[in-house]
Amino acid sequence: MTSVDSHCHLAGEEFAGDLEAVIQRARDAGLAHALVILAADDDKELERARYVAALWNAVRFAIGVHPHAAAKYSGDPTEAPRAVQGRLDAEPNARAVGEIGLDYYYDFAPKQIQQHVFREQIRLARRRKLPIVIHTRDAEDDTFRILADESAGEVGGVFHCFTGDRAMARRALEIGFHISLAGIVTFPRALELREVARLVPLDRLLIETDSPFLAPVPFRGARNEPSYVTRVAEVIGELRGVAAAEIGAAARENFERLFKP
Ligand SMILES: [Zn+2]
Ligand SMILES: [Zn+2]
Repeated sequence: MTSVDSHCHLAGEEFAGDLEAVIQRARDAGLAHALVILAADDDKELERARYVAALWNAVRFAIGVHPHAAAKYSGDPTEAPRAVQGRLDAEPNARAVGEIGLDYYYDFAPKQIQQHVFREQIRLARRRKLPIVIHTRDAEDDTFRILADESAGEVGGVFHCFTGDRAMARRALEIGFHISLAGIVTFPRALELREVARLVPLDRLLIETDSPFLAPVPFRGARNEPSYVTRVAEVIGELRGVAAAEIGAAARENFERLFKP
């Protein structure tokens, strides 16, 4: 089976100790590409990213200021895209701006600052003609309002680790975005998300691990890793009555069209 991991934090310190083994398992699992998310303000992670790229030439990067980190730029939110831009310039394998967005669940930064930093990064993505990787939690209306205001549909992108309902999924699809499902879809009680997994058109579906977080069943509670994305494909395949391989292949095609690896 061929597959992809459209969102993982493989340059995180959680993988520093056994990165080679993790990558070997990802290769053995048939992963053709992985999009590794980097925080523009994390020098150590950016350094480890060099090592990840050296070990696995199938990785591409998304770089952004996460909404959790937006408070750092409260003095001048325009510094956020400047930080991202500098990192993009230095990273030939960067293919997206992200993850960016709004998180009112954790609410680590004031909403106004999160919104400003999000807007500025969409503008940067448009200038660079790069798709965006969106993180949104408990902030649906503000997210869609800002995406519309900033003409984000021009570059498109993905709602990563989608956890919304069917109505929200339709909203995302209507503006041309992709929906990426993570291990949560394997949780038996995620009934609404399982409905979402049935309705997303095959040409807009992506799959991810968001590793090291959110390991799918039956690895729940353990550290997650890219190879486990095959579990996500299996469960979506079961829900749609198609082979997991078909889900993996569609996700790969979508990944290649969106991120041009
Ligand atoms: Zn996220
Ligand atoms: Zn993430």
